Amino acid sequence: MFKLTVLPGDGIGPEVTAEAVKVLQLVAARHDLEFYVEEALMGGCAIDDCGQPLPAQTLELCRQSDAVLLGAIGGPKWDTTDPDKPRPEQGLLGLRKGLELFANIRPVKVYDALIEASTLRAEVVRGIDLLVVRELTGGLYFGASAREGDRAFDTMDYQAFEVERLIKVAFEMALKRRGRVHSVDKANVLESSRLWRETVIKVSVDYADVELIHQLVDNTAMQLIRNPGQFDVIATNNMFGDILSDESSMLSGSLGMLASASLGAQGPGLYEPIHGSAPDIAGQNKANPIATVLSVAMMFQYSFDLPEPALTIERAVDKVLADGHRTADIMSDGMKEVGTIEMGELIRAALD
Ligand code: NAD
Repeated sequence: MFKLTVLPGDGIGPEVTAEAVKVLQLVAARHDLEFYVEEALMGGCAIDDCGQPLPAQTLELCRQSDAVLLGAIGGPKWDTTDPDKPRPEQGLLGLRKGLELFANIRPVKVYDALIEASTLRAEVVRGIDLLVVRELTGGLYFGASAREGDRAFDTMDYQAFEVERLIKVAFEMALKRRGRVHSVDKANVLESSRLWRETVIKVSVDYADVELIHQLVDNTAMQLIRNPGQFDVIATNNMFGDILSDESSMLSGSLGMLASASLGAQGPGLYEPIHGSAPDIAGQNKANPIATVLSVAMMFQYSFDLPEPALTIERAVDKVLADGHRTADIMSDGMKEVGTIEMGELIRAALD
């Protein structure tokens, strides 16, 4: 029996997680697996309930689970510039830190059926299937930082063990994919990048079957647009990964399709769509649930090492798209428009 905590969150979060959990339960039943699912509050809804974005009992429940599925958090209701007021995003940061999730994994896949959604030419993005592995708990976003009058600084601070555990995740993933890792740094300028590169080279000795390419971050930013087909796994630090993962995700052009996972050394992984709470379409049965459904597929693969249920889900999504069904965000001429609930039903029907 697996224990799953679901954090539906705000806006479209509850709509997309509801469909994804139904897919999960059906796939689990087909594969003779059992899931105990419990919901908890995180984000704006938690602030409304108890004044805190991440209540202690939510974090505790997550810690005791095998995996966590998050919808999305935030919205205009909780937007504030008052530093003393709680913000929904603090819940997400607290969760990442509380569960020690140091590796963020974002697959970017361009579906043939959706190739027109990309702003790049079809021949550039056709067949794109890459993975960005981003360090999530160190580097520039966690180093010493201060403001002194007209001066301010932030510090990119890394220790070898942080690089080592991250790059191992990237190598392991590459072994199960096309066997290529681009390690992205700025070793020509930054000392922390020279430590990064040295550590990556040391770890690579144990991964002789993986092709390792060192690339400078400015070049990677350019290559992602020029020839994204060269990439299999991109591994990089927190700040470079923040930017490159957003750039990569836009190769596909469809926010509602992209899933992510955040993993630690042990304990539960966190799975979530990359999109936000989309307050403009919340409560209207318009949200695309596919990113959250694909996050469940990632959960089977990475938390439970069960590639079969993951593949079953991915194939069902492929089929629904190939059959011409689209939510409004990915709609194009000649296709059949459906809502959130209908898309969930179609995916479940396609699981066979
Ligand atoms: P957003 O991702 O919520 O929405 C951007 C645009 O994409 C909107 O037009 C929205 O309707 C559309 N969209 C997003 N997801 C969609 C889906 N599944 N189906 C169809 N259309 C979809 O980004 P935003 O508008 O900048 O942010 C809204 C709120 O979400 C903010 O409060 C922000 O802080 C929060 N946010 C949360 C997360 C998270 O929970 N991890 C991530 C990003 C933003």
